[in-house]
Amino acid sequence: MSRINKNGYVEDKNGNLEHRIIYKNAHGKIPKGWVVHHIDENKTNNDLQNLVALPERIHNLLHAFQTKHKTRLSRAEISFFMRGKIPKP
Ligand SMILES: [Zn+2]
Repeated sequence: MSRINKNGYVEDKNGNLEHRIIYKNAHGKIPKGWVVHHIDENKTNNDLQNLVALPERIHNLLHAFQTKHKTRLSRAEISFFMRGKIPKP
């Protein structure tokens, strides 16, 4: 059984977040410090197509950008955004 937790995410009876489980099952382990973002900002839409993993700092910047510009970036735009925000090694 799953339910919606107080933060609006779907979780199972053990408190595992459904969007992270779905992402992990498809792509493998989520790196430490990374979060799984809902592209359409609907926290209950856990379709794999709606999920992308990002470093937490980049995720925060993404939400700040989207709020500031009253927009939502697509998956392709998010990868451009990440490339611009992650310093080259
Ligand atoms: Zn997000």
